[in-house]
Amino acid sequence: MGLDSYLEQDNIVIATDIDEVLANYVVSFLCWYNKINGTKYTRDMLTESYELHESLGNTQKYWLSWMKRFYEEGHVQKIGVFEGAKEGLAKLAGFEIHAVTARPTLWHEHTSRWVNQEFSSIYEVHSVEGFREKGRKARKCQEIGARLIIEDGLPYANECAEQDIKVILMDAPWNRKSLPKGVARAYSWSEIPHLVHLMLEQ
Ligand SMILES: [Mg+2]
Repeated sequence: MGLDSYLEQDNIVIATDIDEVLANYVVSFLCWYNKINGTKYTRDMLTESYELHESLGNTQKYWLSWMKRFYEEGHVQKIGVFEGAKEGLAKLAGFEIHAVTARPTLWHEHTSRWVNQEFSSIYEVHSVEGFREKGRKARKCQEIGARLIIEDGLPYANECAEQDIKVILMDAPWNRKSLPKGVARAYSWSEIPHLVHLMLEQ
């Protein structure tokens, strides 16, 4: 698409992931877990994968039970905002921005409440339980007509890129691998507004 036709469009829909893009989920979770268990896990240790069992050991079931407890005790409501996300989103005010998260649908009400309280400009929140089956996040993006997603998870970045949805990948220890076509890496939110325009013009 040329620049002129891009500028003529209104209501361009873009999607953003929540955890590790808008919300500091894993830092909040590990701080809470460390306090209870006397461990010293950090975000930087998640180099293998964002899946905690793959980077830190223990089983997937083990970590899911701790995440369930984190949620049930209400900590999900108190997660901090990802650095620069408010300022970055404010610069994308002309777009219709949807939050598309792989979080469980069971958490949806709490997830929505947190997003609405921190980011009033988000048009709608979608919880797709993307970990259950490949392609759910990309399908939701197609359904809402999103042309681009801001994401940190490589599996989701890949499935969206396969469907010709442009991806801005927020750099994180778990995603430092080679990227497919249509995926651009950002090192902070300050780079994102410019990248969004650049990628949508293409
Ligand atoms: Mg994420």
